[in-house]
Amino acid sequence: MKKRRVIQRKKIIIYYVLAIVFPCIILGILAYRGVKNDQALLEREQGLTFQESGQEISNEIEAHFRVVEKSFDKLIISRPKPDKDLFSDSVLNSLITIFPVIEGIFHLSDKNKVSLLNQGLLYGSQKSKGSKSGYPFTPAEQTLERAWKLEFIQNEYSKAIDLYRSALGGNNTIQDQGEFNNAIARLQKKLGRPKEAIKTYNSLLNNYSDVFIQGDIPLGMIALLESGLLYLEMKDTIQCLETFNSLLNQIMDSRWSINHSTFYNTISKIKETNSLLEDAGAEVESLLKDSKMLLENIRVLEQKSAYLLTLTNKTWSIQSEQSSIADNSSNRYLFNNNGNSYFVFLSMLEEHGQWGLIYNQEYFLHNIIHTTIRKIADESIFNWELADNYGSIMLNSENISSNAIPVKVMLSPSLPSWTLLFYPKSEEFLSSFIQTRGGIFFYIFLLIVIILACGLFFTLYTVNNELRLTRMKSNFITTVSHEFKSPLTLIRQMAEMLDEGRVPDENRQKKYYSSILQESERLSHLIDNILDFSKMEAGQKIFNFEEGNLAMVVEETVRSFQHQLTDKGFQLKLNLHEVIPDSIFDKEAIRQVLQNLIDNACKYSDDSKIIEVKVSKVDSGISISVKDFGIGIKKDEQDKIFSRFYRAGDELTQKVKGSGIGLIIVKQIVEAHKGAIKLKSELGKGSDFQLILPLKI
Ligand code: ADP
Repeated sequence: MKKRRVIQRKKIIIYYVLAIVFPCIILGILAYRGVKNDQALLEREQGLTFQESGQEISNEIEAHFRVVEKSFDKLIISRPKPDKDLFSDSVLNSLITIFPVIEGIFHLSDKNKVSLLNQGLLYGSQKSKGSKSGYPFTPAEQTLERAWKLEFIQNEYSKAIDLYRSALGGNNTIQDQGEFNNAIARLQKKLGRPKEAIKTYNSLLNNYSDVFIQGDIPLGMIALLESGLLYLEMKDTIQCLETFNSLLNQIMDSRWSINHSTFYNTISKIKETNSLLEDAGAEVESLLKDSKMLLENIRVLEQKSAYLLTLTNKTWSIQSEQSSIADNSSNRYLFNNNGNSYFVFLSMLEEHGQWGLIYNQEYFLHNIIHTTIRKIADESIFNWELADNYGSIMLNSENISSNAIPVKVMLSPSLPSWTLLFYPKSEEFLSSFIQTRGGIFFYIFLLIVIILACGLFFTLYTVNNELRLTRMKSNFITTVSHEFKSPLTLIRQMAEMLDEGRVPDENRQKKYYSSILQESERLSHLIDNILDFSKMEAGQKIFNFEEGNLAMVVEETVRSFQHQLTDKGFQLKLNLHEVIPDSIFDKEAIRQVLQNLIDNACKYSDDSKIIEVKVSKVDSGISISVKDFGIGIKKDEQDKIFSRFYRAGDELTQKVKGSGIGLIIVKQIVEAHKGAIKLKSELGKGSDFQLILPLKI
């Protein structure tokens, strides 16, 4: 039987798999492939979009440079003479201010010599400005010569000063006057008259600041540096630092066109003084801080100056440098020189001289390229990198996953041959599945799978139930037939023996008659049960409710059992100590209930032979209980025994004859009386079935 059930269940599962699960899996595979195709299509579309965006970015950058270069060309044409002096500071500065991508402007001579025109340079590569003219000396030079001897050979400082002073009154050039005043200040310092020296340096600063001595040292610079040092000597640290800071400001503004050694010596002197004043106290703290800030700014500018000046160091032809810009007609070149990379533009207006721009590559990368990418493409859908022609990454967005495959777009040939790599922010398969057109199919598929899973569960559940019921019904028929057969056989055998006069003993005859009576009563009880059960199942059972006394009915029924049970060795105790009020009930039905319960108590008592029946008054009506001390019922089976054909699956109970309809009849009769059943039972200790019936229905 069990085997058949398992086979049937297996069959259902196999049909289910073949008819539903298998097609579902095929559908699933098709849906998966569909989404994969969608994803590939999406990637192709993305690839095209990236190509377009890359092109647009390239064009935009190109346009930016065109504007710069056109303005530059216009500036060259608008000048009358093809001369490098035609660029005044302001013109140059205005161009750099408008286009910060320009780092420098240069002129290329016929001999391919580069001259820089930037005023932003801290120092230049220029040679001496006012070189000596040699013999014969001018009168001023003769004075200087004499005073120089007095000062440096004879150490006659006062006389030297007097000589300079007398010379000042004469008809001298501004250069000479500047030099005389500088010498006077120097001598005042030597004579230990710092205040006077400072005064002289101040007038030097005001009147001869732009006079260069010894070829390339501006007097303004000497005046500020020297007076700063004099203040330091006089322990006036505040004045000293203020003076130096003003000097640093002027150096930073490229006030004078100085050479590198003048720049370097001056900066070193100031740094030296700063380190001396490190612990000078709170009052100089902020001035010292300003000084450090200025020095830091100067350091950055110094790097820029060094970078630009490297170009001027040797003679070469820009056009012959190995450039990484494919399109020569753009006149842009990107090349390396002395370890630096230069991105330049050469204006082709040759009749105006060869002029060029040096582009600021940092600005180009961060402000032009990066800003253009942000402006044109939607960065939320991709990450990007910019690689140079060797493949090294120069710039990138964050969080690029290492296994992503990029879409590569080259910048246009007129720009450096760099590559933009776009990395689509790839969706997980599942999320792209949900987001793409396949998504709706996914949800439908999911729904179908859920429905099918529920379907399978309910089918198995129902089939299981049906199989169980069928098994119970067939058990029922077997047991009922058996129950019918044994009393009938007994009755027939005894009746035959009596009929044939084979029982001569009167006592034995009596015993046979009473046995026949008992067995036929058992038969009719069984038939009553079956008939009632089938009526109740069909809803056709009619109850005959009448007023009566339950205690009396219980007593009568118990008495009718007494004799039969005593024969079997049972002790049936009736507990009827209370006065029980009359109530409304169906007498026959209640009798049947009691019969069934006492019958069960008897059947499942095992070795214990005591049964107690009790009638008492309770709040909600009248209670009738039938208690035994037999095998008891497992907790988890206590509810199930009230269902049809159910027989508790214990080995012992299976040996006991039964049909599995006794308790369902009890339950239905009690429910028809609007009463309730309570069961207290413990395995091995016995069971107590308590019925509570209301007084009125
Ligand atoms: P049955 O004809 O099998 O007795 P019932 O419907 O009367 O059918 O009872 C259902 C099942 O309940 C029984 O098979 C038995 O396992 C269990 N049962 C009923 N009464 C008792 C009892 N007094 N003690 C132990 N088990 C009982």
